Amino acid sequence: MSETSPKLRAELDGIPTYKPGRPAATGGPVAYKLSSNENPYPPLPGVLESVLAAAHEFNRYPDMACSSLMEELANRFGVPASHLATGTGSVGVAQQLLQATAGPGDEVIYAWRSFEAYPIITQVSGATSVQVPLTAGEEHDLDAMADAITDRTRLIFVCNPNNPTGTVVRRAALERFLDRVPSDVLVVLDEAYREFIRDAEVPDGVEIYRERPNVAVLRTFSKAYGLAGLRVGFAIAHEPVALALRKTAVPFGVTQLAQNAAVASLRAEDELLGRVGSLVCERTRVYDCLVKQGWTVPQTQANFVWLRLGERTVDFAAACERAGVTVRPFPGEGVRITIGEPEANDLFLHVAEVFHREM
Ligand SMILES: *Cc1c(COP(=O)(O)O)cnc(C)c1O
Repeated sequence: MSETSPKLRAELDGIPTYKPGRPAATGGPVAYKLSSNENPYPPLPGVLESVLAAAHEFNRYPDMACSSLMEELANRFGVPASHLATGTGSVGVAQQLLQATAGPGDEVIYAWRSFEAYPIITQVSGATSVQVPLTAGEEHDLDAMADAITDRTRLIFVCNPNNPTGTVVRRAALERFLDRVPSDVLVVLDEAYREFIRDAEVPDGVEIYRERPNVAVLRTFSKAYGLAGLRVGFAIAHEPVALALRKTAVPFGVTQLAQNAAVASLRAEDELLGRVGSLVCERTRVYDCLVKQGWTVPQTQANFVWLRLGERTVDFAAACERAGVTVRPFPGEGVRITIGEPEANDLFLHVAEVFHREM
C-alpha cells in the first residue's frame, strides 16, 4: 500500500466545516432548540400524509423533473416553468449557482457576517470570497459591495433578510445597487426568510428578477413551510441561469417525499402562513422585551434575533443552554436566537434579562 493519500484539490484546504445548530439543550427541565432557525411547528397532517403516501414507493427514483412541484410553483409565482429550478435545499441550489458561474481566479462577493454556507460553497468552487463587512447597524453595505466589483466578479449574494442579523435591504437601495452591477454578473437574492417579512419597503425578489436577467431568487421550504428535514428549495431565474441549474443538478436529488411535501405545503399555504403570522407576533414580543431589558437589537424581519455580544458570546450561549435552550453562538461576534415556541422564547428572555442585569 502506498503512503500517499489520493490527490485532493488544494482549494479544499482550510474550508471551514458547516456548524449545524446544536440539538436541543438537556440542561434544563425541558429542552428547546433555538439554534437552527427551524419552524417549531410539527408537519401539518395533510403534508405528513402526502409524504407517507410517497414512502410506500421509495424503492423507485423520484420524478427527476419535479413536474408537479414545478407546475405548482409556476402558478404560484406567475413565472414560466423554464425559469424555475429545484434543488436539495436552497443551499444546494446556491452551490449549483457557484458551480455554474465561478471557478479558480473568479470572485464572489457577499456581506459578512452573513450566511455561513457562502464561504464554504465559494471555496469549494475554487473561487475567491470577497467579504464586505456589514455596516455598524448590522446591514448590508451595498455601496461598498458595488465598489468591490472587479472584472473577476462572477456572483454576488444578497441575503435578504440577512442571516444571522435579521436586517433587510430595502427597495430603493437594492435597485440602486443593481443598477451598478454589470449585466454579466449574477446577483443572487437569497430570500430564505421571505415569508417572515412585514416591512413593506422590502422588495419581493420575484418582482425584481422579472426586469433583470442577471438576478436569481433563492427560496426554500425549510423555514416558513417547515420542511427543513426534507431538503427542498428552488431558484427563480431567467432561462440561461435556470438551464445551467438543470445541468449542475445532482440527478434525482430532490426526493419524492420532499416533492410531495412541497406541493402539499403550497396547497396548504394559508394554514402555514397563519403559523408564520404567529411566529411574527412572537418575534415582536421577543424584540420588544429585549429592548425593554436594555439590549441593542437590530430590527429583524426573519425568524430570529441577533445579539452582538462580542467576547461574552460563548458565556451567553452557555447560560441559555443551562436554562434548557440551545442558541447559535458565533464566538467573538454574537448570538443568533431563533423565534420558537412561546415557552422556549420565555426561557431565553429570562436568561437575557438576568445576563443583561449582570453585564
Ligand atoms: C436556512 C437558510 C437557507 C436555506 O437552507 P436550505 O438548504 O433550503 O435548508 C438559505 N439561505 C439562508 C440565508 C438561510 O438562512
